[in-house]
Amino acid sequence: MRQLSDISIQYVKGVGPAKKKLFEQLGIETVEELLYFFPRRYEDRRHLTPIAQAKVGEWQTISGKVLTQGGRRSWYTKKHVFEVLVDDGGGRMSCTWFNQPYLEKQLRAGTKVVCYGKVDMYKNRLQMIAPEYEIILGPEDESLSLKRIVPIYPLTRGITQRFLRRVIKGCIDKYGSELQDELPVLLRNKYHLANIHRSIDSIHFPETPEEQQESLRRISFDEFYFFQVSVILRRLSIKRRQGIVHTISDAKVLDFLSAFPFELTGAQKKVIREIRLDMQNPVPMLRLLQGDVGSGKTIVALFGCITAFENGYQSCVMAPTEILARQHYTNIQKMTASGPFKSMNVALLVSGLKKQEKEKIYNDIKEGHVHMVVGTHALITENLAFKHLSFAVVDEQHKFGVRQRALLAEKGSNPDVLIMTATPIPRSLCLTLYGDLDVSVIDELPPGRGEVKTMLYTMERSSEVYNLVKEKVKEGRQAYIVYPIIEESEKLDLKAAQDMFHHFQKNEFKGLRTGLVHGQMKQKESQEIMDAFKAGEIDILVATTVLEVGVDVANASVMVIEHAERFGLAQLHQLRGRIGRGKHEGLCLLIGEPQTQEGVARLDAILSTTDGFKIAQHDLEIRGPGHFFGRHQHGLNELKVANPVTQLDILKLARKEAIDLTSQDPKLENGFNQNIKKTIHKRYPTYLANIEAG
Ligand code: ADP
Ligand code: MG
Repeated sequence: MRQLSDISIQYVKGVGPAKKKLFEQLGIETVEELLYFFPRRYEDRRHLTPIAQAKVGEWQTISGKVLTQGGRRSWYTKKHVFEVLVDDGGGRMSCTWFNQPYLEKQLRAGTKVVCYGKVDMYKNRLQMIAPEYEIILGPEDESLSLKRIVPIYPLTRGITQRFLRRVIKGCIDKYGSELQDELPVLLRNKYHLANIHRSIDSIHFPETPEEQQESLRRISFDEFYFFQVSVILRRLSIKRRQGIVHTISDAKVLDFLSAFPFELTGAQKKVIREIRLDMQNPVPMLRLLQGDVGSGKTIVALFGCITAFENGYQSCVMAPTEILARQHYTNIQKMTASGPFKSMNVALLVSGLKKQEKEKIYNDIKEGHVHMVVGTHALITENLAFKHLSFAVVDEQHKFGVRQRALLAEKGSNPDVLIMTATPIPRSLCLTLYGDLDVSVIDELPPGRGEVKTMLYTMERSSEVYNLVKEKVKEGRQAYIVYPIIEESEKLDLKAAQDMFHHFQKNEFKGLRTGLVHGQMKQKESQEIMDAFKAGEIDILVATTVLEVGVDVANASVMVIEHAERFGLAQLHQLRGRIGRGKHEGLCLLIGEPQTQEGVARLDAILSTTDGFKIAQHDLEIRGPGHFFGRHQHGLNELKVANPVTQLDILKLARKEAIDLTSQDPKLENGFNQNIKKTIHKRYPTYLANIEAG
């Protein structure tokens, strides 16, 4: 039988070679991927709000004809402003967009449109600012986009909602009956889950909200189930392996604890105990260490590295950026320069090194002269071989995938692995999401940290923000000013940071010492600037998000985040974690004007708490886990609609079934279980590669 995963979307009605490219940008190449491309939300257009009854302050959908349109350039902000008046026979709504001059051609008088946005009242007139809009053309648009519950998809430029709806509808009609149900029929019956054809049909085009809920439940169960099976299989395979046994005496632990000028926190000591037990055990350690920014994870990792060294083995720490790797390296060198660990030889390995230097380090690692190496991805290149690696650390887990984690572990013979993340996950979720890891938590910050105050300003009030910065600098503090980089228009965004930097030098911050760092700078150059900032030779550092992870400058207590609405919640939290590290009160000044509900929710969350766990919880609720952790990571990407936060009950059922299955048939050899194995192969190729290697 032909597989839908083998049929190119080119064979779907309406998709030619040009559109095919656009679909690829959405990650869709096959019929199967198109059918599994789910709406991000729905609009109930069965009974649209008449404009005359639109409620100010609410997010609503209206529909009508464009009565008049007009475009102009604002003399004040220099932005292009485009406004149309939509009339539905009973009332009128003004809709305005900024910087989209091409709309003038699309939304001409007489065009039928649907707009979704927040209703405002301005000078006695109803208005929406930058609403989502759709143009309704023929009868097919009417049937798929009006008078029904309508799916709203994530889009890319060149693909519209109504086009995508038509294509998906056509695809379901033609290929839907060939969808193969991967979920065992026993489970479907047991939990009253609809078959896959019906579920896919109604998750795209539900007749009622109940039908949408029902199909969501079915598909979520499916996603959770296979995810859990894969996680459990991985776990089992790691537990079966023969790892390295370290010996660690009480005296050695005490030596370690007394090697620092400060007392370790209770939480740090607790985690050190957990790591010690793991390292003494022949089962390879695979432990996730969660701790908020600044909670002191590095020392805990260092404990493992020193233990490896004292047992005659090597260790390594892999960081996501070169700046961060260098910083870890400098800190670790400082901590090991004197005292009991001074005979430990620590090296730095980053890709920017000269060929000769690199070769020497490779050799020293291979011969065992280097005891501990700190680095970036450079650590997982093929040419690098250790003499005997027994302890590997991956910092900032959410920047790396399962695959990279595994590659690092393969540098030794089942070494103990510690994964560190500053993006904490609510405890209730950890087990189910990271079922293949043990989890430690540092839930306590070292004493004496300054508080951080966070405030939000509109663009119009940014001069107040710059004045505050100036004041703080006069008091002797240092400040960051951060600009967003968004992938699609990296160049434009970069230009914003550069332009503002020059502008600041001539205006607001004239006479102060300013510096600029961004991701496209040569490593050496940005390192010099970071070093100067650290040394207090720069007052104000203008930066793109390169400093998101891990820069540690105690005197920098002010951070301005421009276009704050464009940052993710976890990102904002990480950024803010850079300040309030010393004894001074931190000041985090957000400049932003959120345009979406989600944006408002994000900024509300960051203003209301500094607790990383609470922020993570908010983030999961707002965006769902796939986005939260980044794409193509953890296999979580396979959770397309399933949300562990809002569907914890379904997750628990699926997990229970997955545990039953894998305890009865751990190799998935019997009958229908072979099909389950095939499905796991298909959905989680890297997971399974690791299992089979082990
Ligand atoms: P993170 O968890 O963000 O990686 P770090 O390990 O970089 O945090 O620690 C942040 C700073 O706090 C470092 O300068 C470190 O030396 C310091 N630190 C760590 N533990 C303690 C402690 N128990 N008491 C005081 N300072 C500490
Ligand atoms: Mg860190």
